[in-house]
Amino acid sequence: ARPVVAIVGRPNVGKSTIFNRIIGDRLAIVEDKPGITRDRIYGTSEWNGKPFSIIDTGGIEIDGDDMILKSIRAQAELAIEEADVIVFMCDAKAGITQSDEEVGNLLYRSGKPVLLAVNKVDNLARMDHIYEFYNLGFGDPIGVSGSHGTGVGDLLDAITEHL
Ligand code: GDP
Ligand code: MG
Repeated sequence: ARPVVAIVGRPNVGKSTIFNRIIGDRLAIVEDKPGITRDRIYGTSEWNGKPFSIIDTGGIEIDGDDMILKSIRAQAELAIEEADVIVFMCDAKAGITQSDEEVGNLLYRSGKPVLLAVNKVDNLARMDHIYEFYNLGFGDPIGVSGSHGTGVGDLLDAITEHL
């Protein structure tokens, strides 16, 4: 089977935008579990000659109260269960938030390789904003822009190093 890459992060950091850039129009089969809706979250891609599956975990919606926290936990659990490599995505415009720290703590304990991607680096000036993300403890942050596509090749290079 293809190795699995999961994109994890709080809502609105740009997971789906980057996911769509990586898969192009190559979507895969979607499977539902009770209480959870998975909306177009599985895709496939290939980089440096290495095929892989990729999950946009933000497509998960949990029924009921306390949605964001449950959703964050569900994303992290799904990623830890299914992924060989996890892309932890944050937002350079927003900086580090409490939700980022919470996701980071859950991922940290997984023992899986975690790559830290900082999205919305739309211009060179915003590259200065990525250094604070070292504080999350996942090594070198990889600056990307889903809007412009910059940095996505570097992110894919880092992903395929782990496949
Ligand atoms: P998700 O909730 O993590 O899946 O985030 P989305 O991919 O839905 O994006 C959330 C919002 O951020 C949308 O309004 C996107 O257009 C915007 N967005 C995504 N990538 C970028 C980026 O690189 N730069 C900027 N400025 N906005 C972005
Ligand atoms: Mg999304």
